[in-house]
Amino acid sequence: MEGQMNIAHHKLDKKFAVVDEVNKTSGTFASGLPDTIVIHYTAGPTAASAITTLKEDGVPASAHIVVDTDGSLTQLVPFNKIAWHAGKSAWLERNGLNKYSIGIEIVNAGRLDKNGNVWRSWFGKTYSEEEVVRAVHRNESEPTWWHSFTEKQVEVVFELCKAIMKRYDIRFILGHEEISPGRKIDPGPAFPLDKVRDRLLHSDRKEDSDTPGEDAIRKGIVNASSLNIRSGPGAAYDTITDPLSRNTEVVIRDKQNDWLQVEVKLTGWVSGKFIKKV
Ligand SMILES: [Zn+2]
Repeated sequence: MEGQMNIAHHKLDKKFAVVDEVNKTSGTFASGLPDTIVIHYTAGPTAASAITTLKEDGVPASAHIVVDTDGSLTQLVPFNKIAWHAGKSAWLERNGLNKYSIGIEIVNAGRLDKNGNVWRSWFGKTYSEEEVVRAVHRNESEPTWWHSFTEKQVEVVFELCKAIMKRYDIRFILGHEEISPGRKIDPGPAFPLDKVRDRLLHSDRKEDSDTPGEDAIRKGIVNASSLNIRSGPGAAYDTITDPLSRNTEVVIRDKQNDWLQVEVKLTGWVSGKFIKKV
């Protein structure tokens, strides 16, 4: 991204967003507000489809910003106006979070059904293995499949929140799933909400305890010409085999401070007489 996002007259600079204003608001926020950001996913295929719906006259829904998969932004409602994204919702002593919050809609399909090697959204679009993540939702106990957010989306949402926080006195960054539990599941576990808000709000949560999407199975690629792989999380532990070479694919299993426990899959041919079958 070129330069820091900035807000003037309650809108993002046109360098960073297309402003496509829709008159679906409940007027101006009370003084001292907004003080909350609510994160959503669109549960739809494209930014265009989300924007069409959010602009439609008969649909009682709007949001301040839509974040496309490539990170491009569309602003539908100025930040000083109340949009209609939270619906029936509560947080602490408050009810109806629209009148306190800025709503950010991220383009994402949401929960997916797995069928063989194909993952399918509720609207029928299919996704491949690289586009999905298996994780436990904070309001549930069993893992399910979710459409991954793009890195660009996560980065842009972070920058956008930072820009909003520079202009408004933001105290809370919440997921729709947290203010409307039982009714809403967005943004879901594929979005690293805890990490993003910890970084932005400097809360006293422990910062390094989780990789994005805590319970998600994550893949990585070795980004060094040679990388030692050790028996424990620290340089004092012995290496367990030859170093991993660049672009080796790993599955991330655990994290401790700056160390990741990874699993490496290796396929090749070895002399059969040295393999004991178990
Ligand atoms: Zn939502």
